[in-house]
Amino acid sequence: MTKTTPSCCDEFDPNSLSFEQALERIQQSVQPIKGKKNVSIREAAGHILAQDITSPLNIPPFINSAMDGYAVKAENLPQTGEQTLKVIGKSFAGVPFNGTVNAGETVRIMTGAVVPEGTDTVIMQEHAQLIDNGATANSIKIGCGHRAKQNVRNPGDDFFAGDTIIKAGERLSPAKLGLLASVGITEFKVTRKPVVAFFSTGDELKGVGQALKPGEIYDSNRYILFGMLQKMGVDCIDMGVVADIKEEIETTLKEAAKIADMVITSGGASVGEADFIKIILDEIGQVGFWKIAMKPGKPLAFGHINDTLFFGLPGNPVSAMATFYQFVQPCLGLLEGETVSEPVRLQAKCMSKLKKRPGRKDFQRGVMSSDKNAQLIVDTTGIQGSHMLSSMAKANCFIVLECDAGDVEVGEMVEVQPFNELI
Ligand code: AMP
Ligand code: MG
Repeated sequence: MTKTTPSCCDEFDPNSLSFEQALERIQQSVQPIKGKKNVSIREAAGHILAQDITSPLNIPPFINSAMDGYAVKAENLPQTGEQTLKVIGKSFAGVPFNGTVNAGETVRIMTGAVVPEGTDTVIMQEHAQLIDNGATANSIKIGCGHRAKQNVRNPGDDFFAGDTIIKAGERLSPAKLGLLASVGITEFKVTRKPVVAFFSTGDELKGVGQALKPGEIYDSNRYILFGMLQKMGVDCIDMGVVADIKEEIETTLKEAAKIADMVITSGGASVGEADFIKIILDEIGQVGFWKIAMKPGKPLAFGHINDTLFFGLPGNPVSAMATFYQFVQPCLGLLEGETVSEPVRLQAKCMSKLKKRPGRKDFQRGVMSSDKNAQLIVDTTGIQGSHMLSSMAKANCFIVLECDAGDVEVGEMVEVQPFNELI
């Protein structure tokens, strides 16, 4: 990657925080919300577990077959040649064979069925030759080469009674719900969902369905925020569009802060004459930071209004999405009590030339895919204007270019951050 020393005409702003510092500041200032509640497994999807879960059972709970076939005792397997075994009964999943199996005998067994007393090994049915001796007295013939204790699942193979199987702070995915059900746990504690109030600011904004006058545009940010917040499963309150009038924004902010754990606005976070967010936050709350050396998304206000967290996102829709994705998303996780992990980043071969000026960390929009050798490659979505939502809609990843990086040439390796389901 071409590296250039930042100069006075670069994008560097000495008053802005680095991306990493901003993330750290957010992490330090978030207290998980206190509320916990008992939920049943049917209403738990997407919640954050508020207790460790210990298994009351060994899983599997009993020795069972991994195949459809015949249960035998390992010491009776033939070392050479073939052996004939008499089939003395059946063990089906949920309907065990209750007798004991002796030398020269076997039991027909199905996947998931209890391996009967006196056996410890299963021969796949494809490896057994059935000899039909009449309706009641079947036999099978098996060859040599079978492994002792093959094709069985032992108690505790997955985990044992007393093991912690899910920890507090984990988000409950369908797999985790299945895991809880597998050990018979149907009620547990989760954290309360955060309440998030949001509104757009801007004299130019109209809600969809309204006619546009000259100079007006439709408000897209509230629909973006609503979608992303819904995907995060939080309770959201849409407070509409507020004009660029300081008093009105202030009143709405105060009202929102009373009813929500987090307030998110978009627009008015910069330094223009109609940008009031930072001034108001200074007056009615505490500003944590308000400028970040990232692109898109330099004006991003973060702070508190009393105990309520506040994000003032930039108005440009791509910037609003990128800053939500990078900052609001982990912050909401922490607020909800989630153990938040680093986002996945991968190295991809860049198939387009990328323009990049040193001074800010770039999150360019990319489309990643695999070439015919399974090498990860990435293309740009094209012009990177932060007002161009179509590029965000096309993209499936951010191409992350460090602060001091310059242009990227075709064929260089770059870091990509795949989108999760939020975008
Ligand atoms: P601002 O951050 O208020 O200076 O706005 C920056 C740019 O984003 C301007 O072009 C605004 O018209 C545009 N913008 C602000 N809010 C929205 C919104 N909710 N939906 C679409 N565009 C917006
Ligand atoms: Mg504005």
